[in-house]
Amino acid sequence: MEHITTYCGICTLPVEFCEFGKTLKKCKAWLEEVNPGKYNSLYGSDANVVSSLSSERETQITSSLAKMQLKEERKQERELENLKNSKIIIKRIPRTKHKHVVAIANLEVLGPDVDLKKTAKVFASKFATGSSVSKNAEKKDEIVIQGDVATEVEEYLTGLMKDKGLDIKIEHVTERFTNKKK
Ligand SMILES: [Zn+2]
Repeated sequence: MEHITTYCGICTLPVEFCEFGKTLKKCKAWLEEVNPGKYNSLYGSDANVVSSLSSERETQITSSLAKMQLKEERKQERELENLKNSKIIIKRIPRTKHKHVVAIANLEVLGPDVDLKKTAKVFASKFATGSSVSKNAEKKDEIVIQGDVATEVEEYLTGLMKDKGLDIKIEHVTERFTNKKK
């Protein structure tokens, strides 16, 4: 049997590729009219192999699409969950037996417009003490304030969140004093 490429009068592709176009219904009607033999070999009852292959392919495409959508949904769920679980952590860290600093971690949950350096400066002038941004043990930026001001910091942050319409948990952590030199 001679093999001649038949080009589709509707989508202009070789008729074997009509199924990848968007006009398959029209393509099929056209082919059935102008070339019933070819039509039968592609779509007729003799065309089991072709149709089962293409339906298998269709299943593949559908399932990989579904997988992608599921993956994206899970990602969004995870991000939402992370946001819910995210909280600001105020750590009270003893430097000596009677002197504490306060470190504030996870402030970025307040939004991209909250600048750590600026906020550190706000604390510095508010509490008339030293306040700076530094990296913590997890290599994340946090604000460290010289002074025992955990309660005041919480008050300030609660007010800030109210202004921004946010409701983020604040967790207090108190580190114990250990004299590392001993
Ligand atoms: Zn076509």
